[in-house]
Amino acid sequence: MDKTYLDRGSTSLLKDIDTENYNVVLVSPRAYFLFTPLLPSSTVGTVELRSIMQPIRFITRFKNREVLFIEGSCTDIDPEKKLITVEDSSEIKGEVSKQQIKYDYLVVGVGAENATFNIPGVREFACFLKESWDARKIRSQLLDSLESAAFPGQPEEEIQRLLHMVVVGGGPTGIEYAAGLHDFLEEDVKIWYPEIAGKFRITLVEATPHVLPAFSKDLIEYTEKTFAENKVTILNNTAVKKVNQKDIVVLNKDKELESIPYGLLVWATGNTARPLVAALMTKLGLAAQAQRRGLTVDEHLIVAGSDNSIYALGDASATKWAPTGQVASRQGSYLAEHFKNLYELKKKAPNSDSKVLLSQVDPFVYNHRGSLAYVGGDKAIAELPGNIHLSGAATYFFWKSAYLSNLFSLRNRILVGFDWVKCKMFGRDIGRE
Ligand SMILES: Cc1cc2nc3c(=O)[nH]c(=O)nc-3n(C[C@H](O)[C@H](O)[C@H](O)COP(=O)(O)OP(=O)(O)OC[C@H]3O[C@@H](n4cnc5c(N)ncnc54)[C@H](O)[C@@H]3O)c2cc1C
Repeated sequence: MDKTYLDRGSTSLLKDIDTENYNVVLVSPRAYFLFTPLLPSSTVGTVELRSIMQPIRFITRFKNREVLFIEGSCTDIDPEKKLITVEDSSEIKGEVSKQQIKYDYLVVGVGAENATFNIPGVREFACFLKESWDARKIRSQLLDSLESAAFPGQPEEEIQRLLHMVVVGGGPTGIEYAAGLHDFLEEDVKIWYPEIAGKFRITLVEATPHVLPAFSKDLIEYTEKTFAENKVTILNNTAVKKVNQKDIVVLNKDKELESIPYGLLVWATGNTARPLVAALMTKLGLAAQAQRRGLTVDEHLIVAGSDNSIYALGDASATKWAPTGQVASRQGSYLAEHFKNLYELKKKAPNSDSKVLLSQVDPFVYNHRGSLAYVGGDKAIAELPGNIHLSGAATYFFWKSAYLSNLFSLRNRILVGFDWVKCKMFGRDIGRE
């Protein structure tokens, strides 16, 4: 039986899947997995990007039977013919750069895109924080802004603009990025750039009344208090209306339009469906696929409107759970178990209808293990099952150990641990390529 994966939450599926009974084909434009929770740290040099990346082949080479890995993008899914189109998305292409692959089962785990809400200028001028190249771009622009601000003769107003770092979105990604940036500016940049020290500003813009809406009230208050102590401004109830090259236009809490000049703009406002997912939703029909943020799935993660051969997991799906790595990874392990059970049932009753077989397979169940966020100045917050709320310096050690243990491999753990020690001993690297 052939099964095709479109990469990643798929990592946990790939780790657990039994390759004895299924021919597995993995399609992804990138030949590595990226541990996104530490991506904000990589933009300021607290950890190296390579330390949080793991080659896909590290997993595939340990499977019982060969997993075919194709470095390419899936550009079309044909649910009628059970075919996907894969295109080589790399710069160097051979004679063949497009293929069609047949599947018996398809798992769509392509993640999601950054939501821009069609606000003009976001795609042109803002930096996103999702992929490794986003982190490199942020780092380059950040250091560029610092150098330009330090350029002799720079007018004071321009220095103020260049050193104003604006983060849009008060979810965990925006908060952790602003927190890491604060540490970098305070602990490292101040030493290396004494001429502009004390002139940096960080502003976090959030459209709703408070940051971190998924956390409890006391932890939100703790975060806002810590940010205020660290002189990171939070503008709640403030909606971005337009992004220009050097400023953003916001509707502020007094419902007035205001221009905010910036040197670096990081956009972290959540997810929207990728074009591939949106196209599949259209093919399956609005009656089955009415949610815009991803594929609607049933209790077995089967895509609604499909013939029970297409599954979706992680950020590509729209479920009642937040789009997190924790959910995606649990869904991946569930699907590995699901396919194992399905195979056994099919072996016993080869002619059974798929609906009958599926009725005998357990549905997906999710147990939330808690939420964490780094808030700056060696402090973190944690909301754990059993209504346990933690905050402060000790929680930061918990945050570190949780992230360390969740990395893909021992190699990643050693590299990240080493980066943290290096950062404490020598400070963060301010060099760039
Ligand atoms: C900065 C940041 C910090 C985060 N921190 C946390 C955290 O602390 N805890 C937590 O639980 N979650 C966190 N998340 C969320 C978490 O990263 C995602 O929820 C998780 O990665 C979703 O997994 P996924 O497999 O659905 O998608 P992804 O991890 O996005 O993987 C999708 C993969 O599909 C590939 N792909 C895309 N298009 C195609 C195509 N057309 N064909 C084939 N392959 C394709 C992509 O290259 C990618 O490799 C964070 C996210 C970000 C951006």
